[in-house]
Amino acid sequence: MDLERSQRLRKLPPYLFADLRRKIAARRQRGEKIISLGIGDPDMPTPDPVVERMCSAVADASDADRHRYGNDNPVAELSEAFADFYSRRWSVKLSDNQILPTMGSKDAIVKLGLAVLNAGDIGIAPVPGYPTYNISHVFAGAVTHQLPLRPENDWLPDFDEIPHEVRRLAKVLWLNYPNNPTTAVAPLEFFERAVDFARENDILIVHDAAYTENTFDGYEAPSILQVSGADETAVEMFSLSKAFNMTGWRVGAMVGNAEAVDALSAVKDNVDNGTLRAVQFAAVEALNRAEELRDRINEVYQKRRDLVVERLSAAGWDVTSPKATIYVWAPVPERFAGDSGRFAEELLDKAGVVVTPGRGYGQWGEGYFRISLTYPEGVLSEAMDRIVQTGI
Ligand SMILES: *Cc1c(COP(=O)(O)O)cnc(C)c1O
Repeated sequence: MDLERSQRLRKLPPYLFADLRRKIAARRQRGEKIISLGIGDPDMPTPDPVVERMCSAVADASDADRHRYGNDNPVAELSEAFADFYSRRWSVKLSDNQILPTMGSKDAIVKLGLAVLNAGDIGIAPVPGYPTYNISHVFAGAVTHQLPLRPENDWLPDFDEIPHEVRRLAKVLWLNYPNNPTTAVAPLEFFERAVDFARENDILIVHDAAYTENTFDGYEAPSILQVSGADETAVEMFSLSKAFNMTGWRVGAMVGNAEAVDALSAVKDNVDNGTLRAVQFAAVEALNRAEELRDRINEVYQKRRDLVVERLSAAGWDVTSPKATIYVWAPVPERFAGDSGRFAEELLDKAGVVVTPGRGYGQWGEGYFRISLTYPEGVLSEAMDRIVQTGI
C-alpha cells in the first residue's frame, strides 16, 4: 500500500539524534572508533535497592494485582512517596488530587498538550530547549512561540519580551531548570516572576524538573511549587529517569495544579494503562532513599564534570563549570564563527568525537555545543585527548 503519513507527523522536525546516529553508524561500519558524547542517557546502573525492590515486587504472588493495569491498580504508596519527597525536599505540601504518576516526562509532556491545547492555541517554549515541548504543541494542532534564552541573561527568559497577542492566545508556558541543554539554574525569585506572569495572563506553567536532583558542589535546585500560590497556575513534572539512572523504567509524576492533573489523567486513561505495579513499588524505594542515592550518583558526575572542564579550560577553551545537570555546555571556538554544526562535523571528522551542536536545540542555541557526562571517565578522558590534540 501507499501509506501517507499524517500531516501532524509530517510537520515534525526530524528527531534531533536521528541524523547523528546515522553518521556515527556509518563511521563505525568503516571500523573507526567513534566516541559519542551526544546522548544524555545515564550509563550507570539503576541503584541496587531499586532493582531488588522491583524483583521482589514482581515475584510477590501475594499481590493479586501485580500483573494488572497500573492506572486502574495504582500503588498508593507511590503517591505517598512523591508527597513525602516534596515535603522533605522542598517543604511543599501536596494533596492526593495534586499528584499523578506518569510514564516519564516525555510521555506526559505530549499528553498534557493533548489535554489543554486546541488548534490555533499557542504554547510558549524556551529556546534552546528540550524539543518535546514543541512536539506536544504540533500533535495538539497548536503553535509554538519561541522564548529566547540568552547567555547575557544567564539563560533565563525575559517575560517582557513576549508580545501581548501571544500572551492572549497562550495556554501553556514550559520552563526547565536546571536546564537542558544550557545547564543553567534558576533562583526561586525567577520562579516567583514566572508565577506572577502566568497568573496575570492566565497561562499554565509546566516546570520540567528532570534535573533537580542532578546537582553539584552542595547546590540544591528549587521547585517552582515553593512559590506561594504556585499551584493555582503551575505544575511540575518530576522524573526518576536522570535522578536515579532509571530512563528505561518510565516513571515520574506530574504534581501541582489539581485541574491540570485531572486533565492529564483523563488523557492517560484513554491512551495508556499506566506503569507496571512492580515498577511503581521500585519507584517508591528510589524516592524514599532519594537523598542517599542521588548523592552517590552525583559524586560520579561531578568528577566527570571536573575532568571535562579542566581539560578543555587548560587547552584554552571558554568553559564554565555547571552547578547541575549531566551536561557541559560551552561556546564553540571562535574560528567557527558561531557555526555549531560545522564545529560538530569537524570534531567528528578530525577527532572521531561526537558532541551535540547547540543549533539542534533551536536558533538561540547556535554558537554553543553540548557534551553529555553519561560516559565513564576513561572514555571522557580519551575524548578530551583527541579533541585537544586535533588543535581545533
Ligand atoms: C531527559 C529529559 C526528559 C525526559 O525524561 P523522561 O522522564 O525519561 O521522559 C524531560 N525533560 C528534559 C529536559 C530532559 O532532558
